[in-house]
Amino acid sequence: MNILLISPEVFPFAKTGGLADVAGALPEALAKKGHKVSVALPYYQLVKKNGFKPVLFKKNISLRINNREELFNLLLLKHNGVDIYFIEKNEYYDREFLYGTPQGDYQDNAFRFAFYAKAILASIKDIGKQDIYHCNDWQSGLIPLYIKTHYKGDPMFNNVKVLFTIHNMAYQGLFVKDVVPYLDISWDLFTPFGVEFWDKLSFMKAGIIFSDAISTVSKGYSKEILSSEFGCGLDGLLKSREKDLYGITNGVDYSLWNPAIDKFIARKYDERDLSGKAECKKDLAKAFKIKYNARRPLIAMITRLAEQKGIDLVVNIMKDILKEADFVILGFGDEKYNNIFKGLAKKYKGRVGVSVKFDNALSHKIEAGADMFLMPSRYEPCGLNQMYSLKYATVPVVRAVGGLDDTIQNFNAATKKGNGFKFKDATNGALSGAIKDAVTVFKNKKLWGGLLKNCVACGYSWESSAEQYLKLYKNL
Ligand code: ADP
Repeated sequence: MNILLISPEVFPFAKTGGLADVAGALPEALAKKGHKVSVALPYYQLVKKNGFKPVLFKKNISLRINNREELFNLLLLKHNGVDIYFIEKNEYYDREFLYGTPQGDYQDNAFRFAFYAKAILASIKDIGKQDIYHCNDWQSGLIPLYIKTHYKGDPMFNNVKVLFTIHNMAYQGLFVKDVVPYLDISWDLFTPFGVEFWDKLSFMKAGIIFSDAISTVSKGYSKEILSSEFGCGLDGLLKSREKDLYGITNGVDYSLWNPAIDKFIARKYDERDLSGKAECKKDLAKAFKIKYNARRPLIAMITRLAEQKGIDLVVNIMKDILKEADFVILGFGDEKYNNIFKGLAKKYKGRVGVSVKFDNALSHKIEAGADMFLMPSRYEPCGLNQMYSLKYATVPVVRAVGGLDDTIQNFNAATKKGNGFKFKDATNGALSGAIKDAVTVFKNKKLWGGLLKNCVACGYSWESSAEQYLKLYKNL
């Protein structure tokens, strides 16, 4: 099959969260199975900063947007068996961030991502005919709409199938309706049964309505989003498409996330001998200026600093955490939380370490050096760090929600089964309780050792997730 994966972020070129990891690993896994796989993303400033130099593939391709002709360049980089196409349009993408600054979204995101969609479709005659368009999140939501309307009857789009994968229901790409005609969207579609959402244009609705199938990144989340609690106002629409809605849990790219070969960590180790982890903990404590103590658990987080991640609960119970443990966090996001965590680091010097930035190398050090990894998310479509943590023998403490609930089983000291600690309610008390349980087991060396063995025995390779995507593509 010819498969085109459309994702606004792709590791290692440009990443803000888990979507990039998925869009980096899934295409390679599909290509290994013999398919022709291409990926398309904007040519952000970050791609250049990360040191990638794609070559010019086609100059001055034209498209119509905003009632005028616009030009862009199509760039290409061949990477691990996958063709990575970049849309070069500097006025839209040559900016410091991908979607917005810590103060808020870029004002012209509707145009930036409508342009992205149009540019990809305008490039198909150069890229080649595709069988599957695999769109990801709202930024690619107009692709299915344009395919099913503007390109209807075009031989390049005969028999193509579109899958729309939702990595997060809460980010829907909502814009004032004034932009509708400028993006070449017919007013006929601007109804509650179409792309209108409370008088705004919804890119996410366009993706859900015009795709042949919809998927989310875990089975649990695919069920949760049918409820008003998690559906973010689109549960009714999703219910109407329930028979086309799938859940496929993300995999882990073990060529990147594996302590046996990880180039960022102080000492390599593997499931047969975890002794190297002590050295990694020392190294991590040093990086965050925490007083190293082998007998005191070091609890860590790596996260976008957004409400979704339950970080307010962590702030609330910090005093409790510090009674029995030390804490480090690598995070970046809302200005409010950037500042709150910086404040905590000052207040609890030597006990709380905070790094407010995006830092891939440091994220690996944390996975290797921490004893426990905290994910108290309010909702979590899949979550990757709990799966990375398992591989690094870092025990996940998670809220029982979405993909976290699917991948983590509560440790039972009597049966010695389970690979982490789970709590149900998004409350200070429930989170504190789960951390206390984890610390209690940590103090019992034998039990803790058994738990670590359970963790490293879990495998979530892309091999099996890619197989499930292929099956879904074929069924379309
Ligand atoms: P989400 O996609 O909602 O952000 P996931 O758990 O699915 O959450 O994926 C987050 C990914 O982003 C992980 O690979 C995590 O290590 C990474 N990440 C998040 N914040 C940072 C940061 N500040 N620095 C480095 N990596 C980060």
